[in-house]
Amino acid sequence: MTPLLNVTGLQRHFFVEGKNEWLADKKILRAVDGVTLSVQRGKTLGIVGESGCGKSTMAKLVLGLIPATAGTVEFDGKPVTAQRNRAWRAARRHMQMVYQDPLGALDRRLTALEQVTEPLLIHENNGEIKPAVAAQTMMRAVGLTDNLFTRYPHELSGGQRQRVVLARALVLKPSLLVCDEPISALDVSVQAQVINLLDDLRQQMNLTMLFISHDLRVVRHICDEVAVMYLGRIIEQGSAKEVLSHPAHPYTRALISAVSTPGAKHATAGSGRIILKGEPPNPVDVPTGCSFHPRCAMATAHCKTSAPAVTRLGESHTVSCHLHTMIHHGSGS
Ligand code: SF4
Repeated sequence: MTPLLNVTGLQRHFFVEGKNEWLADKKILRAVDGVTLSVQRGKTLGIVGESGCGKSTMAKLVLGLIPATAGTVEFDGKPVTAQRNRAWRAARRHMQMVYQDPLGALDRRLTALEQVTEPLLIHENNGEIKPAVAAQTMMRAVGLTDNLFTRYPHELSGGQRQRVVLARALVLKPSLLVCDEPISALDVSVQAQVINLLDDLRQQMNLTMLFISHDLRVVRHICDEVAVMYLGRIIEQGSAKEVLSHPAHPYTRALISAVSTPGAKHATAGSGRIILKGEPPNPVDVPTGCSFHPRCAMATAHCKTSAPAVTRLGESHTVSCHLHTMIHHGSGS
């Protein structure tokens, strides 16, 4: 089956000023550095990793909101570029985004109903159904009651605002929904409601989703596949069940070990939690060899000089780590 979304060798580099402002001292920040992934129709791919690993830049590249330095994005068999032409607008109708901060994503001058109606007025409507009626139907489908339709964003709770954002994204009946940390700005009490709603809607509407999150419990709940990003690269990828229950990369293991289980005491070094050394390195100064080596307890001298290749562990499970290169290719065979 042809995937709905195909990303190949995607890169986004930024030039940043170096320390010496008098010389042409520019450095390259590799926000996304050679990402390849695909998402089948009706499936949800989770992208996880610490802040600054390139997850949100990936989302913008996929939607053609910023241009790529290299690589390609294909949506439904057609290339997506950042040129704001007719083809881009036609594709954008079918690719919608749910942002992290619902208040920032909404126009404070418009009521909830106006916000949800707006995309139908912007994109060509075939006139079969009135925009306001279609908007109201979608608002009810995301759990907004009629008394909220005429409220402005500041008159809604965080959870209600995120439902408006969802209704706005879904009113055009997209096939791909890109969610960038959709619950991280919400109160813990409403996070589960929004996730359950998203889960229901994706099944009802047969949505394909790219779900960006640092919360592995949510990823486990909602995603079919998962890709773990570190410093702009995917270092492990596979079915969510396989990767989260049998993580192969030391970084994935550390992320999973940091997820507290109900009833467990705070995780410590002696309680099974893997404590990562330091913060992720500056993406302007990516370490040589395996970029994770300064923080990896398993690192060898080889890891400091040689970047690991992608090793296939199972049908869909891949990892970039020398530990597995040695196991799977055999040191003496
Ligand atoms: Fe650690 Fe080496 Fe594997 Fe990188 S390649 S994750 S440094 S063991």
